[in-house]
Amino acid sequence: MNVTKDFFMMLSQNRMLNGAAKRWGLKLGAQSVVAGTTVEEMVQSIRKLNAIGISATIDNLGEFVFDKNEALQAKTQILAVIEAIHEHELDAHISLKPTQLGLDVDYDFCLENLREIVSVAHQHSIFVNFDMEDHAHLQPSFDILEELHKDYDNIGTVIQAYFFRAEEDIQKYKNYRLRIVKGAYKEPENLAYQTKEDIDANYIKLIEYHLLNGAFTSIATHDHHVINHVKKFVKEHGIPNDKFEFQMLYGFRKDMQLQLTREGYNFCTYVPFGIDWYGYFMRRLAERPQNLNLIVKQTFNKKTNTMIGLGAGAFLLGRMTKKAKR
Ligand SMILES: Cc1cc2nc3c(=O)[nH]c(=O)nc-3n(C[C@H](O)[C@H](O)[C@H](O)COP(=O)(O)OP(=O)(O)OC[C@H]3O[C@@H](n4cnc5c(N)ncnc54)[C@H](O)[C@@H]3O)c2cc1C
Repeated sequence: MNVTKDFFMMLSQNRMLNGAAKRWGLKLGAQSVVAGTTVEEMVQSIRKLNAIGISATIDNLGEFVFDKNEALQAKTQILAVIEAIHEHELDAHISLKPTQLGLDVDYDFCLENLREIVSVAHQHSIFVNFDMEDHAHLQPSFDILEELHKDYDNIGTVIQAYFFRAEEDIQKYKNYRLRIVKGAYKEPENLAYQTKEDIDANYIKLIEYHLLNGAFTSIATHDHHVINHVKKFVKEHGIPNDKFEFQMLYGFRKDMQLQLTREGYNFCTYVPFGIDWYGYFMRRLAERPQNLNLIVKQTFNKKTNTMIGLGAGAFLLGRMTKKAKR
């Protein structure tokens, strides 16, 4: 892992900066990759996508919640999003993170929060996707999914290709609708592939497996090499378009999102919104530091400088302390 990636990953987990960012609002360049802070703004963004044939998966931003009230608040907000999808007849479903609903507070509390969300979504025939987070939350998230799947079929999850266990997981959950990704968190060497070559190779293998053997597949990537490979693969194997879709994040590679839709593929944009945008935004910068140019160019201001400056200070201090200890 390189220093730039480490740096933005460290920023993504900084609670002080996260809190400050909530107070500042969407002013640090994040507005090009986050679809507003309110339900109304999000609905407007999705209407525009739906009008050009793109569906959406909506993420009411929030993660690593350690407080019961905050988790309950998140549940209320997600229920409001479900109502908005229903009321405005949006072509959209829900993406959520189990830690947002209290996985770090208490397993059963989180399970019941998720049950309520999935049940209300089920009444409106709306699909709910459990985003996958870091390794510490992987198994409990799968456990909750399995528990709820006994009663509801409108749920699915994500397989992260960097994990060694991903191949076993995809076989186990082949009857679930799955989103397959490379993986966004910094994971240890004993659990996950570390090089781009290894992750990419496993990614292709998992996509091919689920396309051939599994339920609906969402291929979530901005990588045109992977997308081109999938296009060829589905053609060669006669896999119909209604068995899979491509997904990308809101604000990224917009031309390609449109192009794939025009070519007749199902396309779904991951639409994050809300005030808790900071961790999400920093992970996008960690994945591709060039995004910093794209995102912050027009909006680079004093606050961005302060935030990144503060983070850089903390990061360097951390590295120096580590070196001194060695
Ligand atoms: C819809 C969606 C949902 C996701 N959900 C999760 C989740 O639940 N859990 C999780 O851990 N991760 C999730 N991720 C993140 C994912 O794991 C990766 O970290 C992220 O997508 C970066 O990898 P990549 O496959 O897009 O390509 P990368 O490996 O980042 O890029 C490969 C190549 O693609 C090209 N490229 C990439 N981005 C751009 C760009 N913006 N402009 C131009 N060229 C570009 C470049 O040539 C680059 O070298 C999600 C991603 C998406 C798109």
